[in-house]
Amino acid sequence: MFKGPVENKNEAAMSELVPESRQKPVVPMKPVGINANLLGYIGIDTIIEQMRKKTMKTGFDFNIMVVGQSGLGKSTLVNTLFKSQVSRKSSGWNREEKIPKTVEIKAIGHVIEEGGVKMKLTVIDTPGFGDQINNENCWEPIEKYINEQYEKFLKEEVNIARKKRIPDTRVHCCLYFISPTGHSLRPLDLEFMKHLSKVVNIIPVIAKADTMTLEEKTEFKQRESMPFAVVGSDKEYQVNGKRVLGRKTPWGIIEVENLTHCEFALLRDFVIRTHLQDLKEVTHNIHYETYRAKRLNDNGGLPPMTSETEENHESNL
Ligand code: GDP
Ligand code: MG
Repeated sequence: MFKGPVENKNEAAMSELVPESRQKPVVPMKPVGINANLLGYIGIDTIIEQMRKKTMKTGFDFNIMVVGQSGLGKSTLVNTLFKSQVSRKSSGWNREEKIPKTVEIKAIGHVIEEGGVKMKLTVIDTPGFGDQINNENCWEPIEKYINEQYEKFLKEEVNIARKKRIPDTRVHCCLYFISPTGHSLRPLDLEFMKHLSKVVNIIPVIAKADTMTLEEKTEFKQRESMPFAVVGSDKEYQVNGKRVLGRKTPWGIIEVENLTHCEFALLRDFVIRTHLQDLKEVTHNIHYETYRAKRLNDNGGLPPMTSETEENHESNL
């Protein structure tokens, strides 16, 4: 055990427990009475303000993917989530990608600003999942897209002259739309979630919940443990003197943000207001890390070679 300098007998006994005995540091005295309990203030809590300033300056990326049969209201729900109140600035960093296979995956970027904070939002649309007659392995192009984004990130990360801030195209959250007509999960839904939950955060939603009766909805949700039965709309209506997003039916207006009508507001709060940072962290620390470890392992512990890193190797010789 390490023993520090022993100055007197009393402290010698203490040294058994304390690695080093030394005089209590002299704290510069402040006039007593002004704010005595601030005497030892270090300023740890200012980290919050520092982080706030940084986020204000740099903004952040958030990439959300929607998957489900065509016509289930995917595009509408995304519009509902990131609706009008936020000012839509330029979409100068638009990026489109196409995989000409069973599904065509398309990423569209928006810059959304609210309260001085910029979010670079990418919506990755996967039209018509499971629309084919034969849907065997139809999740593969989606899994491939997700992995390609991890690969891109990994290549940037292992690059010798790596960027200070690696552009993040990784899918942070995948909303999976379940048809309200089946009254339960189809084998394809289960297959998708089983395979994809290993590579991405999946949030299942029951689509077009307004087309089900209350009993159907409750039963479906309980049986399958589905938290969110949602309704989407980008149309506004006047209800009790307030403008609300809703769907007009012959029986009345379904308000998307009214919790007695559907769980859209719960989904919005979960994805944006309480778990956005968590979704990003789980993507980075779990899904990406798993990909990265596997990839580096497959490569005998070496980083994957890219044409860029090869160039850098040459220029560094
Ligand atoms: P996508 O193919 O999954 O992107 O579906 P869309 O967003 O294009 O919507 C398909 C159709 O369904 C449109 O006519 C929408 O107005 C309608 N729709 C979207 N969301 C809802 C909903 O929550 N309830 C109902 N009843 N209709 C919806
Ligand atoms: Mg669509």
